[in-house]
Amino acid sequence: MKTSTVKAYGTHAPEADLKQMNIDRREVTSKDVEIDIHYCGVCHSDLHFARNDWGMTQYPVVPGHEIVGTVKRVGDGVRNYKIGDLVAVGCLVDSCRHCENCKKDLEQYCPEWVGTYGGYDKHLDTNTHGGYSETIVVDEAFVLRVPENLDKAGIAPVLCAGITTWSPLRHWKVGKGSTVAVVGLGGLGHMAIKLAAALGAHVTLFSRSPDKSDDAKALGADAVVISTDEAQMESVAGTFDVIIDTVPYAHDLNPYVATLNTNGTLVVVGYLGPLDPMLVTVPMIMGRKSVAGSLIGGIAETQELLDFCGEHNITSDVEVIKIQDINKAYERMLKSDVKYRFVIDMKSL
Ligand code: NAP
Ligand code: ZN
Ligand code: ZN
Repeated sequence: MKTSTVKAYGTHAPEADLKQMNIDRREVTSKDVEIDIHYCGVCHSDLHFARNDWGMTQYPVVPGHEIVGTVKRVGDGVRNYKIGDLVAVGCLVDSCRHCENCKKDLEQYCPEWVGTYGGYDKHLDTNTHGGYSETIVVDEAFVLRVPENLDKAGIAPVLCAGITTWSPLRHWKVGKGSTVAVVGLGGLGHMAIKLAAALGAHVTLFSRSPDKSDDAKALGADAVVISTDEAQMESVAGTFDVIIDTVPYAHDLNPYVATLNTNGTLVVVGYLGPLDPMLVTVPMIMGRKSVAGSLIGGIAETQELLDFCGEHNITSDVEVIKIQDINKAYERMLKSDVKYRFVIDMKSL
């Protein structure tokens, strides 16, 4: 298959810094859209993956799954996009398209879903490479349309941080009168607050960081609870219908389960791995409470969110960086020193 070489930023080993490299992109096939990437958000998953935190990374890795750009070229069978359109690509670039999940617009749960990076690229028989690059070529079925009225850097994080929190908010039917809590004020957390507030919920932030209280309220939270303060935690016992937990590392879920209402659900979206300490089932049984997980969102649901953001003027609060600062950005993200998402200006590449 014909390819072209493009500039990208990635790494060859878990302990190595990201640096400039060249990668191949396929020439557009009939259904493909080639996109000039303008902005790419920096997700904590990029860092986990580049450093092999989940033990499944194959190198080299070019991260990035919050991609916004314009259409540069289209295949002869492309129906929905034309050159110059403002488009986006999120965490998925393909799936089997015929399993029960695909038929229900739940491509993220397809056994054959292909991640934007670190997936299997059937065209080139290699790993897929993400958005820390000049261009990307994606089947039009996995390309999204971006509302023209929104800031182009600010919309990028909606493609992962946004949809990952939107999908559980919608699945658990959050709306007017719902009581929602968000654990952790980072990229996912700040989008969860904005989106739950826009859906009409009463929103509380659980944070380790008292200095984030004013920001949380400005983002739309009605209340802030410092999770390390037992008295504050007790004051919200039995309160929440839904909790979205975005913390990236192992932590005790039991204090949060105690704050769920009868029938309430704690949705883990951040941490991937065994719980430590274990869950105590007593409060779950006594209150018909659930602990659940959720993965990003499907293509139709991501488009629904982009349109919702367009209508409600919602974007992410971003710090735009040059690609050359990506390694520093990862270190700052580890210290929760970002308000509240880094987005790379790809012109710098
Ligand atoms: P982030 O911007 O780094 O935010 C994480 C937040 O968690 C921090 O701001 C911090 O908020 C809180 N936190 C609590 N304990 C922490 C600790 N020990 N170290 C660091 N932060 C801690 O990360 P993100 O991009 O929002 O991603 C969050 C997690 O979601 C990552 O693990 C990522 O891989 C995962 N993720 C999952 C999906 C999915 O589909 N399920 C999709 C995207 C990302 P406070 O200071 O307020 O406590
Ligand atoms: Zn992500
Ligand atoms: Zn499928």
